[in-house]
Amino acid sequence: MLRAGVIGVGHLGRFHAQKYSDMDGVKLEGVYDTNADRAKLVAEECKTKVFTTTTELLDNVDIVSIATPATNHHSVAKEALTKGIHCLIEKPFTRTVEEAKDLMNIASKHNAKIQIGHLERFNTVMSGGADLFKDPRFIECQRLAPFTARSTDINVILDLMIHDIDLVQGIVKSPIKDIDAIGVPVLTDKVDIAHAKIEFENGVMANLTASRISQKVFRKMRLFQRYSYVGLDFQKGDVEVFERVNKDGSFHIEGKTMPFGSTDALRKEISAFVSSVGDNSPVAVSAEDALLALQTAYKIIEKIEFRMVNL
Ligand code: NAD
Repeated sequence: MLRAGVIGVGHLGRFHAQKYSDMDGVKLEGVYDTNADRAKLVAEECKTKVFTTTTELLDNVDIVSIATPATNHHSVAKEALTKGIHCLIEKPFTRTVEEAKDLMNIASKHNAKIQIGHLERFNTVMSGGADLFKDPRFIECQRLAPFTARSTDINVILDLMIHDIDLVQGIVKSPIKDIDAIGVPVLTDKVDIAHAKIEFENGVMANLTASRISQKVFRKMRLFQRYSYVGLDFQKGDVEVFERVNKDGSFHIEGKTMPFGSTDALRKEISAFVSSVGDNSPVAVSAEDALLALQTAYKIIEKIEFRMVNL
């Protein structure tokens, strides 16, 4: 039985604690949060204990979820990995590329696993639509969310766009040739809405828009490829496909919507992490993949900063 803990039990960490508390093969030993009242509330809900420091928690677990704000991922994960504790670190991996590389070195020295919380990988539309991705040439992603005071320690590229960067790079699998981007701070002192155009060396183009100041939640990816279009609605759990079909010497368009619905993606993510530690198999979302997403995010941020300085 693996002993688990959660550090940072705010909005998302609370759900991590809930999943561990009723998952086979794992025992939730306790939670820690710098906000003691919040830790107590979540611990009571999950029938577990409150640890009073990160160190105390880490001395009692084999695996840990780190769901603090991104700015703290590095310092918290560093202590855990140094003790050989396997970490599920929320996205974005870390605040900077250097911090991510540092954690990867520490993990390798101490034989500890790192999985990153790129949750959309576990969305039903990704498994449902996977067979339909046939060499897309143009990809359009929109990820819009209403404003909350959470995650304002980072910009919208690291907060939201990073999900689509990770998904697109998983589909295209080609080095990046060029990036252009624009973004503006609207409600915070960091970029709240951004648009990036990524050109890959194999000729694929991806347009990514992310906003955390929208009135509605909207999370879609559209893939245009030879003779077909695939639309993924991450919010509804629908996959839409339109294909050119040849019949009687001419062609027409056939389309359908496949409703995959929503399943508990976080449970799938945590369960995959627990299994990979349990049977010492590769993690579902590797540090290498998350580092690649972070590096691309920083290329986008550099372009945005360049434009801002030159406005
Ligand atoms: P939140 O502000 O609701 O929660 C963060 C919690 O961490 C708070 O309770 C805070 O008191 C606590 N905390 C801060 N510093 C700490 C420290 N050093 N040690 C222990 N606790 C500390 O934020 P949130 O929305 O839950 O986001 C947390 C993380 O999860 C962020 O990295 C965010 O990017 C990520 N996130 C991921 C997804 C996803 O789809 N995968 C969605 C939302 C948030």
